[in-house]
Amino acid sequence: MREQWQQVGNPSSLHTAGRRARKVVEESREQIAELIGAKPADIVFTSGGTEADNLGIKGIARSGDRRRILVSAVEHHAVLDPAEALAHEGFEVELLPVDHFGRVDVAQLAARLDADVALVAVMWANNEVGTVQPVTEIAQLCRQHGVPLHCDAVQALGQLPLEVSGIASVALSGHKVGGPVGVGALVLDRDVPVRPLVHGGGQERDIRSGTLDVAGVAGFAAALAAPKVDTTALRDALIAGVLEAVPDAVLNGDPVDRLPNNAHFCFPGCPGDALLMLLDAAGIAVSTGSACTAGIPQPSHVLVAMGADEVLARSSLRFSLGWNSTAEDVAAVIAALPHAVQRARRAGGGR
Ligand code: PLP
Repeated sequence: MREQWQQVGNPSSLHTAGRRARKVVEESREQIAELIGAKPADIVFTSGGTEADNLGIKGIARSGDRRRILVSAVEHHAVLDPAEALAHEGFEVELLPVDHFGRVDVAQLAARLDADVALVAVMWANNEVGTVQPVTEIAQLCRQHGVPLHCDAVQALGQLPLEVSGIASVALSGHKVGGPVGVGALVLDRDVPVRPLVHGGGQERDIRSGTLDVAGVAGFAAALAAPKVDTTALRDALIAGVLEAVPDAVLNGDPVDRLPNNAHFCFPGCPGDALLMLLDAAGIAVSTGSACTAGIPQPSHVLVAMGADEVLARSSLRFSLGWNSTAEDVAAVIAALPHAVQRARRAGGGR
């Protein structure tokens, strides 16, 4: 990226500097495509995962006359909210139920597919609880019914082996693989009709306009190509250690089919935000899945869809591991947790 920032040249220009920039973009496109089993021509660069999700969902739905959209109940808001926007345009949006691990009920999906379904949206892996969806099975089912599948693979990219061929539309983000914030891609099968969201110079296949960020695209490709660190063993040590240190903690999400960098727990009686702040003070950064609406913490829609009661859903925390996480980091979390849980319980008055 530093190398590219030293250069000038718009990849859409025909002069030498422009052609040099174009070469960097196309080589990055090829590199990303090869790593995920896509055709380079299918990759549409975007400003990130959110734009890729919006383009996949709204772009495909608006391109035809089918009126129904099936969306899993545990999607990221970058998927749920474009679907809701389409509901305001007259589309019928139906939420697909999940089991208590957060896995989509494939039989339910099969029962609801018909010739009026414009789009199905199921993520590859969940950003809160880490559950990996049966994507291959779902993609096959959608193909059999001639319905495009949009798959948000933002969390799965770089964590799981991705093979995107056979899926109509796949959203990716650079910053989740250690690349820059503000660049992503939609991997969009060329045979799937789509209506652009951003109009202008038509730089990306006439589907997405805007001058490309050459350094960002190069950084995305370089980050994806960098050797991966498998955090599965560390994650398992973290899960085992947390459950031993806080015996009534409950692991959320699929215990087996889960992201190798994700551990997510309910700590009964602990307000999640209080526990987050106590751990933060101990130098440990964790996250609650809950959003705040008008200052009132809302329980995570993911946990509610999985059947968790609202109080428990507000007592949840996600621990994420990265390429530089160590066994010492895991030990530090386990050492700090019992005291933090005790104090959070007192702060929450047992709720
Ligand atoms: N989808 C999922 C599952 C995510 O976790 C995120 C970001 O956290 C996004 C989409 C949005 O991606 P971006 O931050 O690149 O817009």
